Amino acid sequence: MSGEHASMRIIDGYARGDTGLAADEVWALEAHLETCAVCRDRLSAAVGTGAPAVAALVDTVWAGLEPRLATAVTMPRRRRWSSALSRLFRWTTPVMVPWLAMIVGVTLVALLLDLAGGRPGSGEVSPVLLLAPVLPVLGVAASWSRGLDPAYELTASVPRAGLYLVLRRTASVLAVVVPALLLCGWVTGVTAAQWLLPCLALTVTTLALGGLVGVTRAALALATLWVALVVAPSLADGQTSLALRTVALPAWALILALGTAVVIARRGAYAVLGAHR
Ligand SMILES: [Zn+2]
Repeated sequence: MSGEHASMRIIDGYARGDTGLAADEVWALEAHLETCAVCRDRLSAAVGTGAPAVAALVDTVWAGLEPRLATAVTMPRRRRWSSALSRLFRWTTPVMVPWLAMIVGVTLVALLLDLAGGRPGSGEVSPVLLLAPVLPVLGVAASWSRGLDPAYELTASVPRAGLYLVLRRTASVLAVVVPALLLCGWVTGVTAAQWLLPCLALTVTTLALGGLVGVTRAALALATLWVALVVAPSLADGQTSLALRTVALPAWALILALGTAVVIARRGAYAVLGAHR
């Protein structure tokens, strides 16, 4: 990029589908094209001269599409529920639905164990409390797993991918998981004060580490650590782990603040495909 606009070298290379362009040049160009009409015009001219086959294909598609557009704008507005559904899917991916359902299912199993008092190997520790902080982390992992998102390459290649998309997906995971946990907590007497801060701190730490090693890997590593350091010892000795007691809340607040600072400082790191690992 030279000055304010993209260089002709990059625009010509992009129009020809030049594989010699660096990935970050392509990213920067696509992000710039979204806001710059001048460069869009230059790209359109470059496609016309440098890639006549593409220009011909676009003309053919447009010729076929144009008559239908006139009827499309006069179609009745979609029903409210269907537009609400499409808005939800803009925030998440449809493949997340079974995963979110599974996470809610796990929460319900923990709730049933809690109500039945059949806590394996322990007397006083609530399974809901043990699982609550780590469930959203698993949801975030599911929302970023490339194996679970058939459109992930497409999603990752749009200029608005990156932190904005990460935060939207994380928010949609929390919007499902947190109310389910609040409900379970209300039934079992586990207060949100005990798990909400650890839950947010772990979620933000997942995103912070995700910028380095990929969101899914970070989530799996944190979930494993949580099971090893908190869930297993609590079940073994029947005592609520130190991490879930009131004394630990300042530490969780510190982790939350540090994680948020790292995410903000490294916001550029989420705009690469690697963040989806
Ligand atoms: Zn420009």
